[in-house]
Amino acid sequence: MAVSTPPRQAVLLTRISDDKAEDAKGVGRQEDDCRERADRLHWGIGEVVVENDTSAFKRRKVKLPDGTTGLRVVRPGFRRVLELLSSGQADGLLAYDLDRVARDPRDLEDLIDVIEQTKIPVESVTGSLRLSNDADITMARVMVAIANKSSRDTSRRVTRKHEQLASEGKPGGGGIRPYGYAADRATVIEHEAAIIREIARRLLDDESMYEIAADLNERGVLTVSGSDWSTRTIRSVVTKPRVAGLRSTGRDSAMQIVGPATWPAILDQETWEEVCAKLATRGIGSKNKLIRWLNGSLWHPACGAGLIGWQGNPAPRYWCATPRGGCGGVAINAAGAEQEIERQILDLLSKPRILEQLRGLAGSSSTREARAALADDEQQLKEMAGAYARRQITFAEYMEARKIVEARVRDARAMMLAAAPRILRGLLSGDVAVHWRDLEPTEKREVVMALVPDGWDVLPAQQGGRRAFDPARLRLRGVDK
Ligand SMILES: [Zn+2]
Repeated sequence: MAVSTPPRQAVLLTRISDDKAEDAKGVGRQEDDCRERADRLHWGIGEVVVENDTSAFKRRKVKLPDGTTGLRVVRPGFRRVLELLSSGQADGLLAYDLDRVARDPRDLEDLIDVIEQTKIPVESVTGSLRLSNDADITMARVMVAIANKSSRDTSRRVTRKHEQLASEGKPGGGGIRPYGYAADRATVIEHEAAIIREIARRLLDDESMYEIAADLNERGVLTVSGSDWSTRTIRSVVTKPRVAGLRSTGRDSAMQIVGPATWPAILDQETWEEVCAKLATRGIGSKNKLIRWLNGSLWHPACGAGLIGWQGNPAPRYWCATPRGGCGGVAINAAGAEQEIERQILDLLSKPRILEQLRGLAGSSSTREARAALADDEQQLKEMAGAYARRQITFAEYMEARKIVEARVRDARAMMLAAAPRILRGLLSGDVAVHWRDLEPTEKREVVMALVPDGWDVLPAQQGGRRAFDPARLRLRGVDK
């Protein structure tokens, strides 16, 4: 992370904005926080640039670093920063966060150009501004696209509000009332609200929509139209923005959140967002009975991607999944692979030299750092899920961003073995095989990653008809043949 020689003349960028939510972080505070961060990094600060952004989102022609002109939000401070960086007058960039640096995706592209040319290090107080590799850059692009869209939505919302107010006086559009609310569409029907909360909780606990529908039908709970529950009605009652107290217009992919509603929410917004995100990944027929514990341990040597537990026909499998950036070229029966690797792990754990290895797996300060990074990334995943639920980003953008952060989470987990020694000690304290079977999938994953960090390559199946599971298709990685 740290570059060999820290910058001595870094430019520090702060920003005044008319965004009410940002008032709390005044320019002074931003600068203090940045300087504190600089001290910690042993960076020297040269020029401090204050961007006055209170008239943002007005575009004008500006001169770009390469000499051409282009249409940009006018931000003289930001232009000054680019100039300092590209001319070599500054040898680092420090800002409060990504938001303070670039709201307009084109600004970000200009910055990326300069950084790629000059290799100047970039740092931020919150850690959100990272441009040191391709994954960071993609992530920054997505985050700026989200921020930019929400700014534009805010201004659009103001106009739309007037239309809304006009229509509010008219009697409601008739039709069937929404589940959870009385015919006035505002009074909460408590026993229905309880069902909505139950559905949300069970979905977040990884129960399938099918299981939940079957259970409600068995208990004689009816939908708003008096019929049985289906996966479609289950999905619909928990994903409508109205249950989170949000007013929306349009339907499906054209749906837009207009703002807070006048009626009370049944689910708090965070829960609703999580449920929407969860169902979004399920909707495309993928997974999602967490966790296939070999996630992160199986690899496709031909393309280099990791295999992911996937619903398969006729049985669950680990697959080089195309929706997650794999090539689709290899899959292996999940139960068979887990059984074989379980056998190998138990075998390893019966060997005395493993005990020695375990003692080496002590937690340290790097563990603490990895933990902090992991917490950040998990928070970011949550925010992206929220942005998707509010339709600030498309499903494709959400999945793309998610893929990147999840890969980082995987790395952090692999590094962070603090939990593994505890689990392993428990495992070794008695009958290993019995303890092993009691472990949660996530714990099994910790153990496997601690003992066999490189994982296994999954080789292609032999040609021919249906045959039994072939353990020879799993080959330890990092071992020369
Ligand atoms: Zn592949």
